[in-house]
Amino acid sequence: MQNNAQSHVFYQTRLHRPRLDRAEGVYLWDVNGKRYFDGCSGAMVSNVGHSNPRVLDAMRRQMEKSTFGYRLHFENDAAEELARRVAELAPAPLDRVFYVSGGSEAVESCIKMARQYAIARGEPERYQVISRYPSYHGSTLGALAITGYDTLTEPFAPMLRTMPKIPAPTCYLDRDNLSDAERGLRYANMLADKIEELGPSTVLAFVVEPIGGASTGALVAPDTYLPRIREICNHYGILLIADEVMTGAGRTGQFLGCDHWQVVPDIAALAKGFGAGYVPLGAMLTRADIVDAVLDHNAFQHGFTSAGNPLACATGLAVVKEIVEQDLIANTRTVGAALKSALAELMDEFPFVGDVRGKGLLLAMELVQDRESMEVLPPAMNAANRVVDIAYDRGLIVYARRTRGGNSGDHLMVCPPLITTLQQVDEIIEKLRDSLR
Ligand code: PMP
Repeated sequence: MQNNAQSHVFYQTRLHRPRLDRAEGVYLWDVNGKRYFDGCSGAMVSNVGHSNPRVLDAMRRQMEKSTFGYRLHFENDAAEELARRVAELAPAPLDRVFYVSGGSEAVESCIKMARQYAIARGEPERYQVISRYPSYHGSTLGALAITGYDTLTEPFAPMLRTMPKIPAPTCYLDRDNLSDAERGLRYANMLADKIEELGPSTVLAFVVEPIGGASTGALVAPDTYLPRIREICNHYGILLIADEVMTGAGRTGQFLGCDHWQVVPDIAALAKGFGAGYVPLGAMLTRADIVDAVLDHNAFQHGFTSAGNPLACATGLAVVKEIVEQDLIANTRTVGAALKSALAELMDEFPFVGDVRGKGLLLAMELVQDRESMEVLPPAMNAANRVVDIAYDRGLIVYARRTRGGNSGDHLMVCPPLITTLQQVDEIIEKLRDSLR
């Protein structure tokens, strides 16, 4: 370990971690030569693995031509070609791409696009953006206003125009006699109730992580949920915004998380696996009629300096090509299914593993007192973080978050790169079992 006491760099906590030296494929090495399995792809970012030679080549080629051309001065081939590829992979009619540099920027862009579209349509009274609790949509103030994660939002509460929330469908906690399908509808109908309560003409959009991310730990709603959400949005003329920052770019075994239910959002946010850790890159994806309405009415009053720069876009293009050409979405489905059943088998050994869930390689396990009660572990025990530390020592990186709104509840995310092989699943499970023990 390095002594970071004198470091001029700071992050959100005084976490002392070893210094990174190099990385390749699913592994990272620290400066002492110790190897780590990247069991969470950073933070569900490094989808095509580290030091991918084809991505590095594409970056080198672009760097030798040009790295930056300001978007208001030049168009560029990489930006065009990447958007064309994304439009091919995303469900129709989502074929317009607005570039940003990360997830929070992407989510903010979606909200601002929705708002300007309402104004362009002559509905300026629509401004309320409903989201879910718990949820995570980013750290900027706009994204925080729709985030349901108390520890992150509380310090800023007086500065936020905090937006209304409905409960996320944490069905694994429900002790009712409903079928899965009924439960999905029950949670989805809470959106209709909330819209009625707020006054339908004031509601602009609903924002949803199609499969929960770090806030709820890979929470998958029943199959009836998202289709019903889509119907409700249509009924009230409200835009459906999918936060695909974590779920997008193949992570869940489809290009977008929403694709599992053939639900097409009006606007979607992409980041993380889109730049795959090679460059900061994100995007808002939407329909031509929305873009045209906004641009014809007035300019979109929004944009970021680095947006659509040639280096970021050429890198994103290489990442997307890699996903397609190496068939990584199919691999994600196969390896994800194997990893999920291996994680579920750990439930037999460890009664404190309350739930194993997720799709593709967005997987998580919930740690509880026992499966009967599903009571949270004492927050001070910091259980998931302790497992993370133990796993770290054993050379496996996993990711811990609070499940129940930021204050309590423990889950571990297990989300290796989309290039992970079946043999490597055994390696993850062996180290994880050892750490849980
Ligand atoms: N939305 C979701 C669903 C996320 O998981 C994240 C990041 N964890 C964000 C938005 C914010 O992305 P970024 O950290 O790149 O701003």
